[in-house]
Amino acid sequence: MPLAPAPEEMNVYQNAEARFEAAAQKLGLEEGLYRYLKYPSKEITLYIPVGMDSGHLQVFIGYRVLHSTVRGPGKGGIRFAPDVTIDEVRALASWMTWKCAVVNIPFGGAKGGVICDPAKLSQGELERITRRYTAELAEWLGPERDIPAPDVGTGEQVMAWVMDTYSMHNRQATTAVVTGKPVELGGSRGRREATGRGVMICCDKAIAKLGLKRDACRVVIQGFGNVGSMAAKLMQQAGYRIVGLADINGGLYNEKGFDIPKVIDWVYTQRKPLADFPGGGTKMSKLDILFQPCEIAIPAAIENQITERNANQVRARILCEGANGPTTWQADAIIEGKGVFTIPDILGNAGGVTVSYFEWVQDRQGFFWREQEVNERLQDIMEHAFDEVVRYAETHRVNNRIAAYMLAIDRVARALRMRGIYA
Ligand code: NAD
Repeated sequence: MPLAPAPEEMNVYQNAEARFEAAAQKLGLEEGLYRYLKYPSKEITLYIPVGMDSGHLQVFIGYRVLHSTVRGPGKGGIRFAPDVTIDEVRALASWMTWKCAVVNIPFGGAKGGVICDPAKLSQGELERITRRYTAELAEWLGPERDIPAPDVGTGEQVMAWVMDTYSMHNRQATTAVVTGKPVELGGSRGRREATGRGVMICCDKAIAKLGLKRDACRVVIQGFGNVGSMAAKLMQQAGYRIVGLADINGGLYNEKGFDIPKVIDWVYTQRKPLADFPGGGTKMSKLDILFQPCEIAIPAAIENQITERNANQVRARILCEGANGPTTWQADAIIEGKGVFTIPDILGNAGGVTVSYFEWVQDRQGFFWREQEVNERLQDIMEHAFDEVVRYAETHRVNNRIAAYMLAIDRVARALRMRGIYA
């Protein structure tokens, strides 16, 4: 019987810290900068009063953590979920700093969250939570300060409300305050697919490195939201065989492969449970899907899925992290020992923030690009970042995750040394 994971294994902030420390040490980062970059620059806790449809007044707890503005304004999503914690938001904010540095876009890192269950809230309640959260943060947000984006439980509509609320307070339409907006409101073409597309670009690079072909690759994906469903759709179109899928209610494995547009229609148009999708397949738990026979496993749901307890069950040759923090620090060593080629989250899912950067640029220019242009630029940035991380890993004889952290920390530290410490 495997041991239950220790609580610290499941604390994402401790996981983030452990990796930061390992990379900073390997890099020989000076003590002062180490201390500076370890902690967030600002943390805000909000108590958000909301009139519910029932007539009751409810108070929701929300957070915004600004980890770094060393290389540019803070950038990071807003998560609406019942289990949001300040430690989780802290970890996610620091990962945004490193992610933006890995793909070399001019942003720092931030993240927000509200403890709520969007599935149990009406549209009106969600709108009131979003608007009050944004209004309370109005002086901290801004195109040159801190720019939110979607994350788990939020999407284009929530971003539209953020943009409108901020614009009302600011007395001018300010589209660049938030990314992931509808295209009609200054959103970028290709943003919806961007994170999934970035996942595919990384997988393409990894299979080329390992001498595999797309049509010989079976792929399992945990999570069928923005990241998982788009990765599944694009990868199937490109010739990969998607043999395993899971969402919060369970998973389905079919060695023959799924017809992804039909699954998307089943889940999103017909609003039926993914695991009940007709057309064959073996039902299994949402976790077990990651450990099925495949060439590529893509966790694209939440944190702490691959742990010390189950990491030796991974059968994939490539682990591409669409989610943030799906693998614990303790599991890293086991995965590495098995020879799995890992594409760490701060590289694997950086396609989203990269196209968010394009959205911010387009909003500020008031000039919008064709989707093909967005996709080509994304491809260019992701391929370059992938090559840099792999080269760094080979040069410094570290795994891909530590290489990505080292590359990122080095970029932020260089910028910080040039700016100096304002006192
Ligand atoms: P989403 O809310 O659109 O979808 C989440 C999906 O995960 C849903 O299908 C849900 O049913 C499923 N899920 C939730 N808990 C699960 C569990 N325990 N097991 C299996 N499935 C579960 O969220 P998203 O935007 O797709 O984000 C997914 C992950 O990707 C998160 O870690 C997020 O931080 C990360 N991410 C998202 C973006 C983006 O652009 N949306 C960018 C970078 C990273």
